[in-house]
Amino acid sequence: MRGIVWFRRDLRLTDQPALTAACEECEEIIPLFVFDEGLLRSRVFGSACVNFMLGCLEDLAASLAARGLTLQWRRGEPVEEVVTAAREWKADAVYWNRDYEPAALLRDRAAQLKLAEQGVRVRTFKDHVVFEADEVRGVTGEPMQRYSAYRARWWTRWQAMKPAVWPIPRALTSAKTSPVKALCPLPSPAAFGYDHLTPWIEPGERSARKRLRSFVEGPIHRYVDGRNQPSINGSSKLSPHFRFGTISARTAIHAALDSLTAGGPVSRPDVLTWIDELIWREFFQQVLAAFPRVVEGPFRTVSVPPSREPGPERDRLYRAWCDGQTGYPIVDAGMRQLNETGWMHNRVRMIVASFLIKDLRLDWQCGERYFMQRLVDADVAANNGNWQWCASTGTDAMRGYRIFNPALQSRKFDPDGAYIREYVRELDGVASKWIHEPHLMTTDEQIRARCGIGRDYPSPIIDHQQARREYLDLAKQQVTR
Ligand SMILES: Cc1cc2nc3c(=O)[nH]c(=O)nc-3n(C[C@H](O)[C@H](O)[C@H](O)COP(=O)(O)OP(=O)(O)OC[C@H]3O[C@@H](n4cnc5c(N)ncnc54)[C@H](O)[C@@H]3O)c2cc1C
Repeated sequence: MRGIVWFRRDLRLTDQPALTAACEECEEIIPLFVFDEGLLRSRVFGSACVNFMLGCLEDLAASLAARGLTLQWRRGEPVEEVVTAAREWKADAVYWNRDYEPAALLRDRAAQLKLAEQGVRVRTFKDHVVFEADEVRGVTGEPMQRYSAYRARWWTRWQAMKPAVWPIPRALTSAKTSPVKALCPLPSPAAFGYDHLTPWIEPGERSARKRLRSFVEGPIHRYVDGRNQPSINGSSKLSPHFRFGTISARTAIHAALDSLTAGGPVSRPDVLTWIDELIWREFFQQVLAAFPRVVEGPFRTVSVPPSREPGPERDRLYRAWCDGQTGYPIVDAGMRQLNETGWMHNRVRMIVASFLIKDLRLDWQCGERYFMQRLVDADVAANNGNWQWCASTGTDAMRGYRIFNPALQSRKFDPDGAYIREYVRELDGVASKWIHEPHLMTTDEQIRARCGIGRDYPSPIIDHQQARREYLDLAKQQVTR
């Protein structure tokens, strides 16, 4: 039997259900990746994401080549490409792992129908999450809207099932790539109109495994404190790997739990807190699967203050936020980290999102879009879920009247300003006392710091206390309406 394995957001060989099944059922395997021209040209994603994905594909192609298989790639409209490939290569079956984004569900349904018309068998598998939306439900079978309840049920299910991790299939080395033409090298980012960047986080399955190993050997056991400090290596930075499936959530959770029985100092609360973050990831995946309308707008039509009217003032504030020129160092450091590296620390993502929505009173969806275009881990479910959480419009949302004070957050989580100094270089000479609010420096202090406020670094574009009062007043008016 001849089978195509259609790789999508599962760019690895280990614990890869579609690949494992194809190896068990087929003598000939054709690994295939399709570049979705429509998606890539629509600029839903940006350079960081596209460069990372291409790096992962190179690594995947090399791992397959080491086992005598050639990764085939095509570009165009995915359904058409897969159906044509199956016909041209006389495939008996196509294997893929499921994707839960609304557009992907439509694509996969169309592919399934067209392949069936051609008499090609389709086999699909759960992979991107440990539990799919219908596996963790409320008491009456409803999709869950509260993270804490979801988490409790998720753990019950994990204890009951302990999902296994599959090794690289042995049969892979004896499988043949059927007689399809070997391909020229993978395309460059420029082929799709993107700049070439060296990914800040190394792409590929091997790097993901290395990163996971070093994380579970150390930082995971200090995660509760470490994850909130943007200047240290306190979190795993595995998010782009989970996004492109160079490592599975199953593998990561098993590795985290196994680390509790390894030698050296271990901490169960820290490990469980890290796994909770992976459960947040699954929670947002099931929200998206159950309520696909969240990609169009707020989940709840709650009484949140209206966002600012379109116009030059709105555009000025938005531009300053995007460019990291707000005069709030922790916000600017976060936005510059995002623009330079494609990644941003989670605590800082929350601070910049709160600032955009509640201080600048801009529509959360413009922040969501900007993140999608810049993040190396840009993921519809996680990004939308978190933006809706920050905007207090989501299923399980931040309390409506909670507004982060950027200077207080900065003092608490970056006390010496090490993170700020790394990305807002003009503040390098500013003493720690002033680093969180440099506009409070006297003229003499500015001279000593070699940083003129309003010249080398902007004055705050908005007064936080005033913006907070206005937001709360508007919120009250919404409630009493
Ligand atoms: C406004 C905003 C937008 C975000 N957009 C994205 C996005 O597009 N893609 C994305 O993967 N994450 C997103 N996050 C969640 C989170 O910031 C990142 O997953 C995390 O910073 C990645 O770093 P890490 O791998 O070191 O995480 P770790 O702390 O090591 O956590 C392990 C993994 O758990 C998952 N995770 C952690 N926190 C969350 C969370 N709050 N929600 C969902 N999953 C989580 C990620 O897959 C992460 O890799 C967003 C958060 C906010 C506040």
